[in-house]
Formats: sequence, structure tokens, C-alpha cells
Amino acid sequence: MKVRAAVLREMGLPAPYAQSRPLSIEEVVLAPPGPGELRVRVRAAGLCHSDLSVVNGDRAWPMPIVLGHEAAAEVVEIGPGGSDLSVGDAVVLIFRPTCGACLSCSTGRPALCGPGGDANGAGSLLGGYRRLMAAGGRGGIGAAPDGVLNHHMGCSAFAEYATVSRRSVVRIEPGFGLG
Ligand SMILES: [Zn+2]
Ligand SMILES: [Zn+2]
Repeated sequence: MKVRAAVLREMGLPAPYAQSRPLSIEEVVLAPPGPGELRVRVRAAGLCHSDLSVVNGDRAWPMPIVLGHEAAAEVVEIGPGGSDLSVGDAVVLIFRPTCGACLSCSTGRPALCGPGGDANGAGSLLGGYRRLMAAGGRGGIGAAPDGVLNHHMGCSAFAEYATVSRRSVVRIEPGFGLG
């Protein structure tokens, strides 16, 4: 499906950003979820200093990338093989996927998940896949010629929809509401 997303193609552009405009709102292609993945509709996304740190180059991530790593969302599609979650569930996205099996995860420190950190650094989802592509295959500086876009911390929530690992979301109580 095509979704609108905020794409960053080059870090470190000069301020003021109102003039250099590092983020461009584009229609991009979002691939459907694979096994162990979900597609979610982003209902709200927070703007965090860590997003700015990518824009200004303080924290280098693979380019081009769809930013946004704090969001509340609704599950709209389940990948092949099913899930413990259901379509319609309310979730929050977490910015370090937790594999559930590594040393950190199995000793009660999921925030330090090794494979989760590796996937974040690579700009992929947990499992190594990227589900975002620039429309028309248009890549960014340093991008693969096929136009694949990187994920920001497994989320890429500055978009109407996101395909994410099941291990990048936490279900919240239905009555809590998404606003
Ligand atoms: Zn943050
Ligand atoms: Zn882990």
C-alpha cells in the first residue's frame, strides 16, 4: 500500500530547518507484514529529541530513513502465521524490539536486547527485513538503487501506517483508547 511518510535523506543539513527542510513528506510504498509482523495504523506519534539527533547528525542512522519512534497505533493486519494480537488491538510502539531469547531478554533486561539493538543499528525490523520503499524506487544519498528505505528503531512512526515486528509493540488495554 502507499502511505504518506516523513523521509530523511541526508543528515546534518544546516539550520534553520524551515529553509533547509531536511524532512520531506512523501508517498512511499509500505509492504505487508511478514511472519511475526503486523501492520498498524499510526494514531499519534511523538516528536522526540532523538528524532532531532538524527536530523542534525548527532546520532547517525542509515539513510534514507523514515523517522519516528514513539507512537500509539491500532493493529490493522496480521502477518502470515497469526499472532497473539488481533486486528483492532490498541498498541504502543517500543523503540527497541525485544527478541525474548537473548541473554539480556532472558535475564529481565529486554531494553538491552542484543538482536533488537543490532536491527535498530542496521535500519531494519527485528528479523532483518525492510518494509518501506520510496515510490518509483527513488532512493536517497547512499541508498541502494532499489529505493529501499530504512526503519527508525523498528518503528518509522512518522507515517500513516507502519509495518513492524510483533516484538516492537506492547498491547494496551482496550478501554484506554487511542484518542
Ligand atoms: Zn524518543
Ligand atoms: Zn533479546
